[in-house]
Amino acid sequence: MSHLEDYASIVGPERIDVIRALGARLAGRVIQNINSTAVGGGVAEILTRMTPLLKELGIEARWDVIRGNERFFAVTKAMHNGLHGVPSPFTEDDRQVFRETTKANLDHVQPWGDFVFIHDPQPVALIEVIDRAKHFCAWRCHIDFTDPQPDIWQFLKNYIESYRAAVFSAPAFARPLGIRQILIPPSIDPLADKNKDLPNEVVDEVCARFGLDRCRPIITQISRFDYLKDPVGVIRAYKMVKRHLDCQLVLAGGGATDDPEGQKVLDEVRSEAAGDPDVFVLFLPPGSDIEINALQRASTMILQKSLKEGFGLTVAEALWKAKPVIAGAVGGIPLQITHKFSGILAHSIEGTAFWIKQLLNTPRFASRLGRNGREHVRANFLITRHIRDYLLLFLSLENKGNPIVL
Ligand code: UDP
Repeated sequence: MSHLEDYASIVGPERIDVIRALGARLAGRVIQNINSTAVGGGVAEILTRMTPLLKELGIEARWDVIRGNERFFAVTKAMHNGLHGVPSPFTEDDRQVFRETTKANLDHVQPWGDFVFIHDPQPVALIEVIDRAKHFCAWRCHIDFTDPQPDIWQFLKNYIESYRAAVFSAPAFARPLGIRQILIPPSIDPLADKNKDLPNEVVDEVCARFGLDRCRPIITQISRFDYLKDPVGVIRAYKMVKRHLDCQLVLAGGGATDDPEGQKVLDEVRSEAAGDPDVFVLFLPPGSDIEINALQRASTMILQKSLKEGFGLTVAEALWKAKPVIAGAVGGIPLQITHKFSGILAHSIEGTAFWIKQLLNTPRFASRLGRNGREHVRANFLITRHIRDYLLLFLSLENKGNPIVL
């Protein structure tokens, strides 16, 4: 397990001192996180790493997961897609399922934290049953809100406005709301198995296990199998490149327990990739952190061709490994990539193919992008910055209107 002091050599001891000073102001408080999946996806990734570090500060950090049946997660996936701007029906029946599942969850998720931090739309309606005079409640949004479907947004907004504050990952997601909106981008943990340095032998072993040839270029996208990550678009871009340049493509990912569409997308990906021995579609079980780390490190470049993206932790993970990244110019990705400085922003399949070729042909330029990206992540998107921002958020909720002096 990592400790706060372990991060001093990465971000500088001053930043750790600030975290300790802020943490001391909140020692003994209970911070209760509530989300809808314990594994898979970015939220679970962050909470797994952050909870023990908050505990080290003397804060009682708790993490509860709501439960739901297949029907509930089909409804919330449709909501998720609709909030990402994808036309999705949202019927009165769906709304009823949503409300009833929230109520049913009260049997095992009792809001009891001094701060109740509710993540994403699935558990948002819990606010109705929380005594808001006793608990400071903030809603944490991890999704891309640039163009939500109006009826779903309106449904959600009625709940969101009962919170004290809403926290978004990127400025583009701010919406007209009657409560405070706070910008806090997510982060990665440089000491997690997913991101820590790996001996070359481990990278070799993982590549050998999956049949990858390290002597030829490897282009990788790590993502849940989700339409919004556009894995089929990735294969099409690869095919355009492959006519001119030799390379291998890796599409690696698993599912999340709150995402029922994964299998369908995986089937489409497999059929698009069929017959090409240089396309590796890898379905990874939960906990494949070392494998993901090794695949990212073995890659010549990383793609994240998302059509919508809350933040895109996979981008930060790749940049931290100093890899050149080509990613969709959507959601939180432009916070991480300045085009042609710390990576490449692409807007289409053709654009992605063009830049893959460019980077394969100009390796020095490609490695400069990776180096710049790593420093950008160090300064802005590591877990230490994220913890500091959360501590400030909680202090500001508790001290409304009063300056916070360390
Ligand atoms: N991830 C994983 N296994 C997989 C696919 C993804 O552990 O099979 C991780 C990935 O490395 C990243 C997170 O899940 O840390 C995905 O976060 P991101 O913000 O990129 O996308 P989300 O899935 O939340 O939409």
